[in-house]
Amino acid sequence: IDPTELVVESSLVTNFIAEYYQTLEHRPVQPDVTPGFLTVQLPSEAPLASESVESILQDVYDKILPGLTHWQSPNFHAYFPITCSNAGLLGEMLCSGLNVVGFAWSASPAATELEQVVVDWMGKMMGLPQGLLFSGGGGGVLQGSTCEAVVCTLAAARDRALERVGDDMFNKLVVYCSDQTHFSLKKGSKLVGIRPANVKAIKTTKNNEYGLCPTDLRDLVASDVKAGFIPIYLCGTIGTTAFGAVDPIRELGKVAREFNMWFHVDAAYAGSACICPEFRNYMDGVELVDSFSTNPHKWLLSNMDCCFLWLSDPKRLINSLAAEANYLEGGNETMVDYKDWQIAVSRRFRAIKLWMVIRRYGITNLMSHIRSDVSMAKRFEELMLSDRRFEVVFPRKFSLVCFKLRGNKDDVPESVDEDCGLSRDSELTRELMASVNSSGKAFLSGVTIGSLFFIRCAIGATLTEDRHIEGLWKLIQEKADEICVDHDL
Ligand code: PLP
Repeated sequence: IDPTELVVESSLVTNFIAEYYQTLEHRPVQPDVTPGFLTVQLPSEAPLASESVESILQDVYDKILPGLTHWQSPNFHAYFPITCSNAGLLGEMLCSGLNVVGFAWSASPAATELEQVVVDWMGKMMGLPQGLLFSGGGGGVLQGSTCEAVVCTLAAARDRALERVGDDMFNKLVVYCSDQTHFSLKKGSKLVGIRPANVKAIKTTKNNEYGLCPTDLRDLVASDVKAGFIPIYLCGTIGTTAFGAVDPIRELGKVAREFNMWFHVDAAYAGSACICPEFRNYMDGVELVDSFSTNPHKWLLSNMDCCFLWLSDPKRLINSLAAEANYLEGGNETMVDYKDWQIAVSRRFRAIKLWMVIRRYGITNLMSHIRSDVSMAKRFEELMLSDRRFEVVFPRKFSLVCFKLRGNKDDVPESVDEDCGLSRDSELTRELMASVNSSGKAFLSGVTIGSLFFIRCAIGATLTEDRHIEGLWKLIQEKADEICVDHDL
């Protein structure tokens, strides 16, 4: 690092980013490019000589930006938001600028201790039970993604079960979830060696608001146990990816306890909402979990990447993940060594980013940010409900609105398995989404479940304001008008 050069060059990059955000809403949200468009514009060999930051930034502007999907655009409503903020960006700069590696307390004491403080702060902000916090005998860690958190907790659950039943029962270990659980659970199960057939997804229905039904779960687990299987892990979700649905945590927790399963709750997106007391009812029963994870980079203004994982008994995780190396001797055994709480040894100083975000905005402003997104989503849902051509396919809980175009049908099916003309609605809805997205003025994503295809409008990009939602509604109506004319509806 050359500190003098750093001041000059970082201001070039900062100005570049600031201008990007100033002009972002005028860029098409998705790029209009064909595969290989970038490769042909770039030299195939790395440069021998140094180049200036100015010339690199010029290439970013000319060649990279036109090929990006602009996730930070106020018109980006696909998937789930990945929020950003000044504080999030500054926190990332500190993380990267200090570039310390706190794999053990002794490797960078303040990095470990700050993480412990932030983990407890966030847990308290969300109203998590004391038992998940360091101050209450539990504890937590900052990882990069939910997928990593799931892999780590699955490994702990696997080893706990094998200790009880013996290694030769490995093929009998079973993991439970719903058909709405994020696919990272399947991926994680594969990684820890669970047979794909032993990852059992319970079917959800419209009647249960696409939540995991505890009675169905109990019946399945009981019959599996009778057949000689060993239930080891149950994943519940607060804010599913497709609908933003919520599983009944308390009832699922009881089933998990009854059968001695590890109970993990994935609140990747919606966990951030729980900093507002009005959303905490969705966590009812959370004291029954073994672990709980949420990604503040999704909705809490904390730039990529960070996933909080809390555990009621961190020792069980450490038993699975700890490994010693002779070059790591000389630590302090009474302190937390975060290398034993995650997959990798090296780790980023994510805690400093979260610390910056939470301090810079304070809980009050963070709550306002969540509430403002939810209120925009509510407004969008009301607009949808005011036009009979549209159907909101799931009652909105957070800031995700799921809808479809109805053609001219009046009957609403009871279940996504009943077709009732769903295929036709789905075709029209697909056409609507393609038409909105190809306009470049907004980006929405869709989901297919059975014969139902619906559009998800996830509100939460940091720059989105009421006027963008009004504009989006107008755009959707215009495109729906065209489709209705084309199809004689
Ligand atoms: N869980 C849920 C409910 C999600 O919606 C997502 C992504 O959108 C994930 C997990 C995946 O998270 P990650 O990318 O952090 O692994």
